[in-house]
Amino acid sequence: MRHFPLFMDLRGRRVLVLGTGKVAHRKAEPLARAGAVVEMADRFDAGQLAGCALAIGADAAETELVALFEAARAAGIPVNTVDRPALCSFITPAIIDRDPITIAVSSGGAAPVLARLLRAKIEALIPPAYGRLATLADSFKAEIRRRLPDMGLRRRVLERLLGGRAADLVFAGREDAARAEFARALESDEPARGMVALVGAGPGAADLLTIRAQRLLGEADVIVHDRLVTPEVLDMARRDAERIYVGKARANHCMAQEDINALLVRLAREGRKVVRLKGGDPFVFGRGGEEAEALAEAGVDVEVVPGVTAALACAAQAGIPLTHRDVARSVTFVTGHTKQGRLDMDFAPLVRSKTTLAVYMGIVSLPQLRDGLLAHGLPAGTPAALIERGGTPRQRELRGSLDELVDQAAAWSTRGPTLVLIGDAVGRGVGWSRTVPAMALVGQAFRPAVA
Ligand code: SAH
Repeated sequence: MRHFPLFMDLRGRRVLVLGTGKVAHRKAEPLARAGAVVEMADRFDAGQLAGCALAIGADAAETELVALFEAARAAGIPVNTVDRPALCSFITPAIIDRDPITIAVSSGGAAPVLARLLRAKIEALIPPAYGRLATLADSFKAEIRRRLPDMGLRRRVLERLLGGRAADLVFAGREDAARAEFARALESDEPARGMVALVGAGPGAADLLTIRAQRLLGEADVIVHDRLVTPEVLDMARRDAERIYVGKARANHCMAQEDINALLVRLAREGRKVVRLKGGDPFVFGRGGEEAEALAEAGVDVEVVPGVTAALACAAQAGIPLTHRDVARSVTFVTGHTKQGRLDMDFAPLVRSKTTLAVYMGIVSLPQLRDGLLAHGLPAGTPAALIERGGTPRQRELRGSLDELVDQAAAWSTRGPTLVLIGDAVGRGVGWSRTVPAMALVGQAFRPAVA
């Protein structure tokens, strides 16, 4: 280790920053945030160093920077000059600020860019609410010491709280419940209570998970998932987490909804951290509402984590705007699911309004959908698209008028989850995928045609 890391208390201490440009301000900002009295100057004068805790050389003239370095070193004041290792007695790390938690990353000056990239990764991993969790723990510190004098027991209780439900509650913005959890843990030594997170897995690509979903997957004891959840997403879960498949292909339910609800309740009551992972968003045609109700009724804590729903993922990757100033002023999510073979849909308002229709589970009932819409006055030539496995590298699209799609759908489908988009906006947008296979588009979707 070339440099020794430490955290310095700068409250009320003077820090000299040499330079008044952009770089100097960038350096001054976190110092001021830490409570330092920052003084900035363009020229160096030895008197300025008196009483300083630190000195920083930023965007000042070379002779000034050298003079600062030499004077500071002679006076025993730590000094750092931006991008000039030879003029430094200390280096500044990349900082992840989750006050009061602070994480500092350094490459020892070897590759500051790498340290910054690493910082971005850690930023993504540590929820902003970590600071609030630390503050909450701090507010219980004295009481915890008093009630749990045994250090081993204290550590176990704290680990359980901070790595478990209390943390989840803080991250979900429910600080009051988290406080109650702390209080309860101090009152009794009852075992940890489980919790269920209904988590949106997005359309199937692992990098379309939310950061919150990814964190919960990394912490789960058990993951209950269904057919829409792809192996790539499941790979993001903790290696030793138990995985339970509860299926659910159309008309071929692998487990009845009531049994899934009961399973979730039982797992939570065993004190486990359960992630109920559902394709897309859990509250969009996923029966997540019923699961949340059943859990709440059983007195189990539930957290709902949104996911990228199929309509958004399909449209984005196909380059289809869901709303468009001129032609579509709303988006409507509907289900094409039939009851006893009948499509129960109120067509008139759908046709009347300038809307883009996103039909989930609609490929089987497509002829009925077309008939209903046309009978209520939708022009037969209205643009439409079928999008299969949307939002993944295997996305496929079929575009045409609604009429054309009905004829071609069966032959075209490869039985993957398929969304139907209908409306004038479907004919707009960038539509690259018509000529370029979806795979080739990954990563270049938003590159402008002319640089
Ligand atoms: N909760 C899910 C929807 C569940 S209903 C969500 O928010 O996306 C299941 C239907 O969603 C499928 O029949 C299909 O119409 C649609 N769907 C889900 N994932 C899809 C995907 N990757 N591509 C296209 N359609 C998808």
